[in-house]
Amino acid sequence: MQDFPDDATCLEWLWHNRYAADGEHAFCEKCGQTRKFARYSTSQQRQSWTCTACGHHVHPTAGTIFHKSSTSLHLWFYAMYLMTSTRCGISAKQLERELGVTYKTAWRMFHLIRNELMFQDDEPLEGEVEADETYVGGRRRGQPGRPPAGDRKKTPVFGMVERKGRVKAYVVEDVKTTTLMPHMIKYLGSESTIDTDELRSYATLGRNGFEHHTIPHSIGVYVSGDVHTNTIEGFWSLVKRGIGGTHHAVSQKYLQGYLNEYAWRYNHRDRFDGPAQFGLLLARAASVLRV
Ligand SMILES: [Zn+2]
Repeated sequence: MQDFPDDATCLEWLWHNRYAADGEHAFCEKCGQTRKFARYSTSQQRQSWTCTACGHHVHPTAGTIFHKSSTSLHLWFYAMYLMTSTRCGISAKQLERELGVTYKTAWRMFHLIRNELMFQDDEPLEGEVEADETYVGGRRRGQPGRPPAGDRKKTPVFGMVERKGRVKAYVVEDVKTTTLMPHMIKYLGSESTIDTDELRSYATLGRNGFEHHTIPHSIGVYVSGDVHTNTIEGFWSLVKRGIGGTHHAVSQKYLQGYLNEYAWRYNHRDRFDGPAQFGLLLARAASVLRV
């Protein structure tokens, strides 16, 4: 609220960060060169800056998730701040109350932030990596709330984590080799070693050129020297506690967004002082353009 007290400050921020570092000079596509831009205060042009040479308009929100949104920029920024300043995230219900928007709007804002800003990058994982699969409970079709345990539809999820490093987590169709191996080939760096449990889907890792260690959970062994999957299991419990405690139930269709959000928070946990994480998310909002 101090840094971005209103819509105008948010728009100025986008203008400075995306187009005009000095707030005045920007590249004009129409002129093909850097020009002086001015802000004319006619009501129709409130959201844009105008090239003083040719009259071309530049909208600082163009291409971002904020563009043409009926929700004000100020509320968007505030929602992003709330998402990055709590350890477990907040629910759409809480956002609805905080922002005074409808539940549908709150939910849609989170959905866009999770899927279009907090998406997971393609950078491979290096060093000692743990891989594991788990199942996250969905909700009974059509019925909100908590279904009885036996009735839950579980969604398979696959994840990999560097020791003391980054995590990646994806909703998968199933946990067969043919499903998991492409993820591992894509996201495991050439110098990485990999620890898994005994699931047969991991048996061919060695043949695929990876240094692979198995921890025999079935005979009660969970740590053997440096070999274990405790880090990824810790991440799973974060996700499950978070979804159970904050969001109550998440359907399969939207689970990837939640995984993105938890992975984002985990991967930036060293910057957990609110403003720093918020700054990173804002930078993504300014640089990631919608197609
Ligand atoms: Zn121009």
